[in-house]
This record gives sequence, structure tokens and C-alpha cells, in this order.
Amino acid sequence: MTCERFLELLDGLDNEKPPAAMAAHVRSCPACARRAAALQSAVDLYRLPDIAGSSNMVPRVAAMLPFVSAPRRSVSMRNWLGAGFVLLVSMIMIPGLSAFMVIAPDLGADFMVPVSLVLGCLVTAYSGLFVVSHLDDFSRRLKAYQGRQAHKAA
Ligand SMILES: [Zn+2]
Repeated sequence: MTCERFLELLDGLDNEKPPAAMAAHVRSCPACARRAAALQSAVDLYRLPDIAGSSNMVPRVAAMLPFVSAPRRSVSMRNWLGAGFVLLVSMIMIPGLSAFMVIAPDLGADFMVPVSLVLGCLVTAYSGLFVVSHLDDFSRRLKAYQGRQAHKAA
């Protein structure tokens, strides 16, 4: 069964059990399985008892929770690179600031050490957050690399 045919039949189903061919396609096709699950969620939401008239907000919110998508917890790679670029540019630009050039010669190491520590802490925090938030990605890449190495050795 093709995906187009599956979606056509899915639209035609009226709260009845899907035929065996459709069930087999759902098991083998993640995209259609997601589509079928989304449609089922929408139908379930439509069939909820009328809670709009209820004055108590808690059951209304609780009834809607399964249909609300999870909050976005990941930061896109573009934003990571942007933040890293801003950090790098600020590390390069700070010694060139006119205020920095006025203060630095008078205070010497008393000024440079704290500035270096703050910049070092920022770079460490950025690097640590980047690595921690991309552990899954690094793990996947390492496994793929190990798989290629094992394939080469064999
Ligand atoms: Zn499909």
C-alpha cells in the first residue's frame, strides 16, 4: 500500500477499525503512523465532553494537556554558532575598547586577571553547555564512526 492510498483511506475511516492492510502499512511506515496518531488525537479532542462551559479551569486545562505539544527545549545550531561568534568577537574587541585602553595601563594585572577570568568562565560555560546539550548528537556520530571503522577493518 502506498502512503497516498493509506492517507486516502485514513480520511475515509469513520471511527471504525482500520483494515489489516492499513494496520500493516502503519507498522512499516513511521510517517503514516505519525499522521494516523495525529488524526486520532484530533478526533479524541473533538469528542471530549463539552468543558468550555465549565467555570472551573483545572479540568479544562487537564483535558487539553495531552494535545499540547511539548515545549521546545533545544537551541538550533544556528543560535549556538551565533552565540559563540558573539563571544569570540567580544573577546577580540574588549582589549580594543577605549575604556579598556585607559584603565589597563594604570591597573595592570589587577585589571587583566579578573577580565581574563570572566572571559575564561564564559568560554568554559559556553563550551560546557554546548557539549552537554549535544551529547546525543556526539554519541550518534561516534557510533557511526565506530561502525565505519569496524566495517573497514572487516
Ligand atoms: Zn506511509
